[in-house]
Amino acid sequence: MKRNHLIKPTLGQHYPTISHGIGVYLYDTDGNPYIDGSSGAVTASIGHGVSEVVEAMTEQAGKISFAYRSHFTSDAAEALAKKLSDLAPGDLNWSFFVNSGSEATETAMKIAIQHWQEKGFERKNRIISRWTSYHGITMGALSMSGHVPRRKRFVPLLEDFPTIPAPYCYRCPYNVEAASCQLQCANELETAIQRIGSENVAAFIAEPIIGASAGAVTPPLGYYPRIKEICERYDILFIADEVMTGMGRTGKMFAMEHWGVIPDIIALGKGMSAGYTPMAATMISDRVMEPILTGSKSIMAGHTYSANPLSAAISLEVLTYLERNELVLAAKEKGDYLLQKLQMLARQFEIIGDVRGKGLLLGLEFVSNRASKRPFEQQSGITSRLVTKAFEKGLLIYPASGAIEGIAGDAVIVSPPLVITKEEIGRLVEILGASLEELQQELYREGLM
Ligand code: PMP
Repeated sequence: MKRNHLIKPTLGQHYPTISHGIGVYLYDTDGNPYIDGSSGAVTASIGHGVSEVVEAMTEQAGKISFAYRSHFTSDAAEALAKKLSDLAPGDLNWSFFVNSGSEATETAMKIAIQHWQEKGFERKNRIISRWTSYHGITMGALSMSGHVPRRKRFVPLLEDFPTIPAPYCYRCPYNVEAASCQLQCANELETAIQRIGSENVAAFIAEPIIGASAGAVTPPLGYYPRIKEICERYDILFIADEVMTGMGRTGKMFAMEHWGVIPDIIALGKGMSAGYTPMAATMISDRVMEPILTGSKSIMAGHTYSANPLSAAISLEVLTYLERNELVLAAKEKGDYLLQKLQMLARQFEIIGDVRGKGLLLGLEFVSNRASKRPFEQQSGITSRLVTKAFEKGLLIYPASGAIEGIAGDAVIVSPPLVITKEEIGRLVEILGASLEELQQELYREGLM
């Protein structure tokens, strides 16, 4: 079969054809196995081919797949919204369903703006975000994203949102050690608000752990409590983009629970349906919904497929499966185990500058010199060379580099399904080690290390 009608990520490149998946393994049509060491794009958190999900899918499809949300509600969508409200901390009791992470953050932005409009604050519409971040590819989400290559083509059309640096301790923007850290990166939010004027700012958005743009970068301990305090002081909503970190991935149901901080709005995607269907959500607190409920009574957002019964039933079964099999706890335990193994690799390979992350959202950053933390030149393409080597050996890892040249270095995310066993982790680390060995030898030969 000739396949030249489909636009693939890199045109002209050969991609194997997927056949099927079982647990943490994917198989192409030539029968080659791949360990899904990244859960695709940090998505397939309960593993592939789970029969309970297939059954729930079939059962719902047998009843109704689609009914327009302006005409009907459905038991599946109501139950999913209830389940999310039960799982979420604080009074995050409302859910609006969309189809992708980008739509979830974009909807979060719109709801934050609407919240203030309903209260009579028409000018409170700026969103502060961080450099070295990714919130999605649609124009609103991209406006909030601090990822230079993804923004570049569209900069004149984007709102100029990202203003503060990310809490990137390995390459601290203030050059301070953790011990003497006064959380300047968090305090920058206050400075930014003062410059813009709190009367013009609707919300601050952040990924609890930075994913696609830097590779599982975790903030210093007091960072989010300080951020929340500043948001409250200036009457600014706090949006947590948990699209990558949510639904157990980091060893807590929501990553923000690691720091005991309850956001006003949460964006979810990826693990929410674990790849079994496109499904994402914007969760909203009672407090944020209140002026909308008493005001226009409608959220100015939504898509044809929002809250469709089929995706809702699938997502509900994924979350039920996650709870029934205690996969949030598994993410913590297996994550600690994998982290130790990655730290062992770091002792073996000097190309690894930093190992980081929480639960099963782990990252490796690569350096040409460990002592000076000197990053590789972007044109050396270190991340993609490693990802390709691993792929050829049957391991999928997720590239997470190049957000801002000279700031965020080469990095990958290692984030297998939460169902991974210790033996499978052993195999994953073995292939990763072999790929690193090969790459490092090449770089020595090329004089790049
Ligand atoms: N936010 C975060 C934190 C993400 O990691 C991503 C995807 N990498 C998105 C938003 C966008 O999600 P999607 O690709 O489903 O639109």
